Amino acid sequence: MISSIDCPHGKSSIITGSVLALLLAAGGNPQRSVAVGPTVIEFYVDDEPRRGLPIMDFASELVVLDRDGQIHALRGAAKENVRDLKLPYEPANPIETRDRLQSEFGRDFEIVATQHFLVVQPRGRGDRWPDLFERSHRSFVNYMSRRGVKIRRGRFPMVAVVMPDASAMYAEMERAGIQATSVAGVYERESNRVITHDGGHLEFIAATVRHEAAHQSAYNYNVHSRVVITPRWVTEGIGQLFEPEAMVMNQAGLTLRDRVNRDSLRKLKENFDGGQSDQFSQAVRDLIGTDEMFNNAQTTADAYAVAWAMMFYLAEREPKNFARLLTGTNGRGTYQPYDRFARLNDFERWVGSDVDTFAKKVAWFLKSL
Ligand SMILES: [Zn+2]
Repeated sequence: MISSIDCPHGKSSIITGSVLALLLAAGGNPQRSVAVGPTVIEFYVDDEPRRGLPIMDFASELVVLDRDGQIHALRGAAKENVRDLKLPYEPANPIETRDRLQSEFGRDFEIVATQHFLVVQPRGRGDRWPDLFERSHRSFVNYMSRRGVKIRRGRFPMVAVVMPDASAMYAEMERAGIQATSVAGVYERESNRVITHDGGHLEFIAATVRHEAAHQSAYNYNVHSRVVITPRWVTEGIGQLFEPEAMVMNQAGLTLRDRVNRDSLRKLKENFDGGQSDQFSQAVRDLIGTDEMFNNAQTTADAYAVAWAMMFYLAEREPKNFARLLTGTNGRGTYQPYDRFARLNDFERWVGSDVDTFAKKVAWFLKSL
């Protein structure tokens, strides 16, 4: 899952999408400041002064990119209580971010820096979690690159927060304003953090962590954009792809069968006759057009399974269209609304077949697994 605020419609863009894309994922030196566009403002989050770049000015909220990569939506008094510092935007360096995390989480936690992550974990937990996050990220980059998806290095270190047990995790989610129940972890798009816990069987939690880590990799490495509205089946389909353990193991000996998400396939067999039923093509059409199946608790689990099937088929059988779909959804305008008509139109253009034909191809593919 991805937790995040929903931005209201009716907007005015402060900086252009291409400048913003550079801010969120830099091709070159990640510490380089950006001289184009507006300058840095000072603003307050929980009475703490922070600095960042305003990126969207909605009627009810001002969206700001913090120097550490967090996105804040300032509302009410917080929206007014800002000051232009007339300085260019410069991302925080990893040491600054690390120091800030240490004071945020306190002495019971350590911050472990890896090549791509800052992992916040209870003191003395060793390398198990940092290794899992690094491995997940590397396999994500490999899988995407092999399919021609253009990966671009992110500007900010990815922050992963490991709480000591499930109740501490829920308390941390509440502090971050995230509503979730019965989860082993979450990726939150605004704070750009994964939050999970170390209080259960790692095997059980690990599938969720691989799913959430894939969201984080996707949003930080230019597969999705954190400021673009992306259809849920696209983002969750990617998350589902990375749940199987084989996805983070050595590529040698890895077969298509190893990459199958068994939970999703089981659900498809139970509820959609393995993709052969009319309900399956209807679900495919619904997911392409709207996020309703995800939002309705009765159909959420089905939505994840069908989204997996669609994404797995594209990634394994039509990688060019897979890459085109991801580039297309990623390249839309900042917070630009995306209606049913446009979603269906774009899909048929990027994937090169109508929805019913596509659903049939996915069904045949599922049968072959
Ligand atoms: Zn997800």
